[in-house]
Amino acid sequence: MSERRTWAIRTAFVLFWALAVAGMWFFLSNVRANSEQGLQERTDARTTLSARFVSDYMLEVEQLQTQHAEAQLGTRAPSAASFERVVAGFDSEAALLLDARGKVLAIAPRSPRQIGTSLVDQYDHLRGAINGSPRISDVVESAVRNEPVIAVAVPFDSAAGRRVFSVAYDPNSTPLRTLLKNTTPITGARVVLLDSKNQIVAANTTQTETPDDARISSSRAASSGVVGNNYFSVQPVRGTPWRIGITLPTTALYEPLAPGWVWVAVLVMFGLILMATLLLIDRLSVGRRRMSRLAHTDELTQLPNRLATTGALERRLRLALSEDAIAVLMIDVDHFKSINDEFGHHVGDAVLRETASRMRAALRGQDELGRWGGEEFLAVLFGAGPDEAKLISERLREAVATAPVDCDDERVIVTVSVGCALWNGEQLDALVNRADAALYEAKRGGRNVVAVA
Ligand code: GH3
Ligand code: MG
Ligand code: MG
Repeated sequence: MSERRTWAIRTAFVLFWALAVAGMWFFLSNVRANSEQGLQERTDARTTLSARFVSDYMLEVEQLQTQHAEAQLGTRAPSAASFERVVAGFDSEAALLLDARGKVLAIAPRSPRQIGTSLVDQYDHLRGAINGSPRISDVVESAVRNEPVIAVAVPFDSAAGRRVFSVAYDPNSTPLRTLLKNTTPITGARVVLLDSKNQIVAANTTQTETPDDARISSSRAASSGVVGNNYFSVQPVRGTPWRIGITLPTTALYEPLAPGWVWVAVLVMFGLILMATLLLIDRLSVGRRRMSRLAHTDELTQLPNRLATTGALERRLRLALSEDAIAVLMIDVDHFKSINDEFGHHVGDAVLRETASRMRAALRGQDELGRWGGEEFLAVLFGAGPDEAKLISERLREAVATAPVDCDDERVIVTVSVGCALWNGEQLDALVNRADAALYEAKRGGRNVVAVA
């Protein structure tokens, strides 16, 4: 694998992981946004529905009171006892009957000192009812007992003119709490009904005040949103001065397996592990390539060794057609033993290196040159007929003989003898043997000579 290809693969790999991480991040945040939006919509729907339930229920109470008042209080002012009998059906804390100017005509439980007094200045809802429309109060203190109540005041027409019948209820004994409890049966959810002064009318738990209530009381009448890890949703209750609010933790409905950054960290880790593996494989293959190169290269001359040269020739002969022109040159350095003897082994080595380099330069690109062993070399010329083979052989011989080799202040005259054999369709061994025989002829012919088999 070339350096450039390795680099390209690494870059592609890093880009791929960067994209995968970015994609996963996008996906996770999208999933979260969707699920949050869904949660928000469901919460809003529940709030609206609950507001409608409360509103309808209070309307029912108003209608029931009006019917009762018209049927039982419409003819004449009731005695204390008969008023108590009328009120007994309402499961209430207290009840009042007022005339058109707000004066108390009857009161239950009995409180004679209040008969004839006016309560209009004290209670807004009573004033509203006298003006002709049914009213529901905030959480107020009962006129009879000092306890918080919610009151429903309805106007009706009697024989003696406009009257107002007002019934006060203990908020804890109305069905409102049960209703709120069933609104959002989720652990940790807070459902609360607040009046116009942010007093709690009813809530889904007995807990009187929670931080969630503060969030709802500071919100606009119809609003919703996310604060910290909570969703809240507020809706007004039609026909009352109240509003209903739901707060619930996001984790109640939406609990991610792990936060987004954990997934990204996992991906990055995977990426690093894969990267390390890739690098290791890369290193191993570099090592393997080096081993293979060493096994096929002659260390001294850096030419292919005998194994590689034979392999290359064998492959070419197997693929060659009988008419292909292939020439094999067996080359031997003349009197090399004397060079070693005269100048030393290291000069002999330098001569071998220089000879190899000169011969390689004298050959064409498609030709092979390998070290056969000792001071012997084998060249394979592809597509070279008799004339061309002879020409190249001479050129090669000439390239070595043309100038002495300089080494350690010595000028060493070097020549080679060349035996050339042209392939005739025979096996490798036979071809090499014929080149060897030609080399023998060249030596006998006086050396520094080319002989063709
Ligand atoms: P001829 O002209 O007949 O080929 O004579 P020669 O002296 O070249 O022939 P011979 O085969 O007797 O000698 C070859 C010598 O090459 C013997 C060996 O010591 C030497 N030799 C073989 N390999 C190397 C090498 O790698 N380095 C050096 N310095 N000498 C080598
Ligand atoms: Mg020899
Ligand atoms: Mg020799």
